[in-house]
Amino acid sequence: MPDDIHSGADSVNPFALRQPMDLDNAKLPRGQVHIIPERCKGCDYCIVFCPKDVLVNAKAINAKGYHYPVVADGKENECVHCRFCDLICPEMAIYTEDLSGTEETE
Ligand code: SF4
Ligand code: SF4
Repeated sequence: MPDDIHSGADSVNPFALRQPMDLDNAKLPRGQVHIIPERCKGCDYCIVFCPKDVLVNAKAINAKGYHYPVVADGKENECVHCRFCDLICPEMAIYTEDLSGTEETE
């Protein structure tokens, strides 16, 4: 067997081979978070599990005495509409709206 059969394969980056061919056309979804402060019981699940760290505790409290989530400063356009917060909230106090189809075309 010729020596150079494997030498070429060793130099190939396997991760480069696994990139989707249309990666440049892929776009992240965009979401708008809606919070209903009076339903919140301050469990922080939505804050902890958001993969984009979109949410933080408000300084203010609701009528039940809990700090509810708000969108963090500078994170207004970071929600990817994964719906983790919506699905995990035990009080149905947060949900997101899909904005993916609403961007202006360039
Ligand atoms: S939908 Fe996902 S990215 Fe958006 S705020 Fe909820 S957990 Fe975070
Ligand atoms: S998961 Fe729901 S109840 Fe818990 S902090 Fe978030 S909005 Fe409030």
